[in-house]
Amino acid sequence: MNQPPLYIRVHPEDNVAIVVNDGGLGEGATFSDGLVLRERVPQGHKVALTDLAEGDAVIRYNVVIGYALKALPKGSWINEHVLRMPTPPELHDLPIATIKAPDTSPLEGFTFEGYRNADGTVGTRNILAITTTVQCVADVVQHAVDRIKAELLPRYPNVDDVVSLGHTYGCGVAIDAPDAMVPIRTVRNIALNPNFGGEVMMVSLGCEKLQPERLMPPGTIPIAAAAVDDAIADIGDMEAEDNGAAVVLQDEGHVGFQSMIDSIMRMAETHLKRLNNRRRETCPASDLVVGVQCGGSDAFSGLTANPAVGFATDLLVRAGATVMFSEVTEVRDGVAQLTARAANGEVAAAIIREMQWYDDYLKRGGADRSANTTPGNKKGGLSNIVEKAMGSIVKSGSSTISGVLSPGEKVKQKGLIYAATPASDFICGTLQLAAGINIHVFTTGRGTPYSLAEVPVIKVATRSDLARRWHDLMDVNAGTIATGEATIGDVGWELFRMMLDVASGKKQTKAEALKLHNALVLFNPAPVT
Ligand code: CA
Repeated sequence: MNQPPLYIRVHPEDNVAIVVNDGGLGEGATFSDGLVLRERVPQGHKVALTDLAEGDAVIRYNVVIGYALKALPKGSWINEHVLRMPTPPELHDLPIATIKAPDTSPLEGFTFEGYRNADGTVGTRNILAITTTVQCVADVVQHAVDRIKAELLPRYPNVDDVVSLGHTYGCGVAIDAPDAMVPIRTVRNIALNPNFGGEVMMVSLGCEKLQPERLMPPGTIPIAAAAVDDAIADIGDMEAEDNGAAVVLQDEGHVGFQSMIDSIMRMAETHLKRLNNRRRETCPASDLVVGVQCGGSDAFSGLTANPAVGFATDLLVRAGATVMFSEVTEVRDGVAQLTARAANGEVAAAIIREMQWYDDYLKRGGADRSANTTPGNKKGGLSNIVEKAMGSIVKSGSSTISGVLSPGEKVKQKGLIYAATPASDFICGTLQLAAGINIHVFTTGRGTPYSLAEVPVIKVATRSDLARRWHDLMDVNAGTIATGEATIGDVGWELFRMMLDVASGKKQTKAEALKLHNALVLFNPAPVT
């Protein structure tokens, strides 16, 4: 598209703005207000709107994102090489619950067609998930899954898919270390994701540290018959298998590989029969549990896609739904915004607790939050983590934060939730699955084919150029916001309605249709042995 030189300034107090034009702009390019570029500025990168002296604060989102390392006259390209990063905010003397959400009127009348579960959660897909207690069984389970899909699934037309919940945990780990609770509860809570209908099925090797009864203590599985709990207590004999709880490959009853596959397929069929009886029913939008995250971010993330997601987040919260945002290192520099939006002192304290835990975790590894930004982020115009964080937080909209989850915990309340996770796309997605999401929204500027097998992922492009090139991978183009073709509200509503259609199964996401999905990646802050 051939358009006149265009920049976007986010806040009236900002002294830098973002170049919008595809391909960037060359030296001498003149904007409608008379600003002239002193040098070439790539698309998504910052231009100085005023003359900056050495040491002057560089302001975007009305926040200091850095200090000029040298004099930078108006029209200069502002990038990571000419900025000194601010120190991270302290975790004391923060504003607590000082901001009220602007519009909290209920949004009524929106529904979707979902699978209601006995525990009150609602699935958006009907999937048989096979949980593994240890990596050793992964290939056997995958072999079985391929056969289940080919031979059994066609007989159960109401079941969408069969997935193996493979991971790298279970043995060779310090299973009693305090932080081991994070990977263990993650594997447990993923098995209980609403899309799996409470049909927990495990495959164990037999000698691993993460024994099935440790993974699923009695009482964990909400709807399964008492027989399943009993069976888990008796793991190691074939009785457990008869009750549909776990196949143990080292069980003496198994003679050869084929016997293991037969056992897994037999057990899978008992679960498939029950899953096949699930039917969609009309559910209020309040039954949505949406996880939002970003990956492969650029300077447009905070201008287009993330504000549109934030708009949709506010709609969801007003509709009574649950929305969780995550990625600790991408909110750390904006912690004061989060504590100010906390519903009360308890929620604010939980936010601070998670930030402190993560500061300590990074420090143990000899790093800090600045390790987050990637070469691609910088190429896309994000100079440092402060700028990236300010653009990332806007996914959370403006609603009150009503709860906080530690990594791997399951959500138990409605509203806007801060689910503390690393920013790594795969780990964040895995932890949000454990938290109980039934829809995932993912924004990207650089582009990533990211998706999940367990829950549909709606991908939002920050730029029209990406949406055009990756036309069969991106579901929503928020780039139209930068060019003025659409407003944040237009794209926010489009996304909200798309979530209802995708949740209902009326629409598949692009990655879902292509059957793209990433492996689960557990967050294990505990030692391995
Ligand atoms: Ca991410």
